[in-house]
Amino acid sequence: MRLLLVEDDAMIGASLVHGLSDAGYEVDWVRDAVAGAAALDDPSAHYVAALVDWGLPRGDGVSLIARLRSRGDAIPVLMLTARDRLEDRVRGLDAGADDYLVKPFELQELLARIRSLLRRPPRRAGNAVTVGSLTLDPVSHEAHVEGRRVALSAREFALLYALMDAPGAVLSRTQLEDRLYGFDDPVESNAVEVVIHAVRRKLGRAVVENVRGVGWRLGTPS
Ligand code: CA
Repeated sequence: MRLLLVEDDAMIGASLVHGLSDAGYEVDWVRDAVAGAAALDDPSAHYVAALVDWGLPRGDGVSLIARLRSRGDAIPVLMLTARDRLEDRVRGLDAGADDYLVKPFELQELLARIRSLLRRPPRRAGNAVTVGSLTLDPVSHEAHVEGRRVALSAREFALLYALMDAPGAVLSRTQLEDRLYGFDDPVESNAVEVVIHAVRRKLGRAVVENVRGVGWRLGTPS
């Protein structure tokens, strides 16, 4: 899992990279707001979350987050800052930060906050739902993967929407049938598999994972 760290303090940055790497994360560390924006604009980076310092050269963390949210990016963001006045915290959260950690902090607390961010259900930017590199647009019934647009049928859309609504959860055949079909629709015994097959053909086999005997969960599109 890859994190973006935007932090200009060399000692804090190096120590966070060290601690986060020890905890199993890959970390890209950039040291100013312009480099942070460029990293966040890179669709191939696939960051699971960003840790953003408030005070940065060539801009500031709050503007960086506000810009990210204004273009619909739903990546979880944790602000790191020495500011602890209430109005500053409110400003950071209003700009679109998901959480806030005041320096100095213990690495253990940072790791717990990151785990908590990654457990949250996906943030909705407008009506779109985003998990990792996959975004669903309920207005156009399209999936967006790394800049590629894929048109989906109503049932293909409903299947992905159900899986993305609970990332990590395994949904049973009955649960998926309920999401894909109305009460009065006759459901063929292999109906769910047919829709999964169609979705995999469009977004790669790994986009839907089969958990044998239990059901299916969201995987990674290709
Ligand atoms: Ca700073």
